[in-house]
Amino acid sequence: MNDLVTRLLREELRGQTAYGAPQLEVPVRLNTNENSYDVPPDVVAAITAAVGEVAGHLNRYPDREFTALRTALADYLSKQTGVPLPPEQLWAGNGSNEVLQHLVQAFGGAGRTALGFTPAYSMHPIIARTMGTRWVDGMRGAPSGVFDLTAESAIEQVRAVQPHLVFLCSPNNPTGTALDLDVVKGVLAAAPTSLVVVDEAYAEFARPGTPSAVTLLADYPLLVVTRTMSKAFALAGARLGYLAASSDVLDALRLVRLPYHLSAPTQATALAAIGHHASLLETVEAIKAQRDRIVGELGRLGYPPVASDANFVLFGGLADAAATWRALLEHGVLVRDVGLAGYLRVTAGTPQETDAFLVAMADLPDSHRSNATTPTAEPERKEH
Ligand SMILES: *Cc1c(COP(=O)(O)O)cnc(C)c1O
Repeated sequence: MNDLVTRLLREELRGQTAYGAPQLEVPVRLNTNENSYDVPPDVVAAITAAVGEVAGHLNRYPDREFTALRTALADYLSKQTGVPLPPEQLWAGNGSNEVLQHLVQAFGGAGRTALGFTPAYSMHPIIARTMGTRWVDGMRGAPSGVFDLTAESAIEQVRAVQPHLVFLCSPNNPTGTALDLDVVKGVLAAAPTSLVVVDEAYAEFARPGTPSAVTLLADYPLLVVTRTMSKAFALAGARLGYLAASSDVLDALRLVRLPYHLSAPTQATALAAIGHHASLLETVEAIKAQRDRIVGELGRLGYPPVASDANFVLFGGLADAAATWRALLEHGVLVRDVGLAGYLRVTAGTPQETDAFLVAMADLPDSHRSNATTPTAEPERKEH
């Protein structure tokens, strides 16, 4: 950036680095938690027909309230969680990143504070800061050094910071583990006048018996649960994320969204995909099997994995995460360096992709192993 640009740039953005997971052309891409399986032919046919139908009417603005899509999302989420939800409680955007941005636009901003518990999703602080919101990095695992977040610790941090917004992520990216609902309830009780956002981007991959925060919506008017079609639904390229909240929260979001923010092709695509959710979600069990296989094998190889409810695994025991990241890339395997000393994150893909990753891991010379046996959380290094 030249001097003129840097000087004019908003102060809170100076020196910030842009989100930048590498998009490299390598045979095995396991770095952004996409679903490795292509969209199945029946869903491709449905999407193609639906988009074809709206193409002739692109001269008109789309339905600003995306009513049909909200109805379909409400039906899906009600079935998935067992909680009846009317369309009036569903909102969507171009990726859950956009719905997160709507939340911060409406409830954050200058003079407001947001709290998250790191390591968690790197976009939460980025979105907060770009809207001028003060971000506080809360801690997971204090004081034991592991990545769990206990209700006591979360409550204590919420009380100390008194944030306007709290971000929870369950299952948590990049660590993989889902939160106990006691943590969510504890935060809600400790912050009854704050917006509490639970990012459930990976909910469909959770181990059996993991309840969704959607089950708490009826009791907490300032609770928001965000979801996405980018992961389990294998639709990252379509850009469709959504949330469930009270209809009053939705009215607040209508004040900040741009008019007609969901294009007619996006609405048509998402609606067609939701209509075929059973077919799209068929890969979820296969992906979970590969995730559990990665957890088992990495444990045997001496790279301790973190328990995962998602479609990825965080693993440690590395002497130099950046060096291991490069070594895996030389094997044609792209994983994610999330900036945690001694740790890397790998997406669970197809059995063939898992093979390639595990073979590459087994081939690593011993020098890649650290001697440390206890995990430490130090979010200090640059991400790859
Ligand atoms: C991948 C991911 C998202 C999804 O973002 P989209 O904009 O919906 O693609 C949201 N939250 C978390 C924690 C994620 O890891």
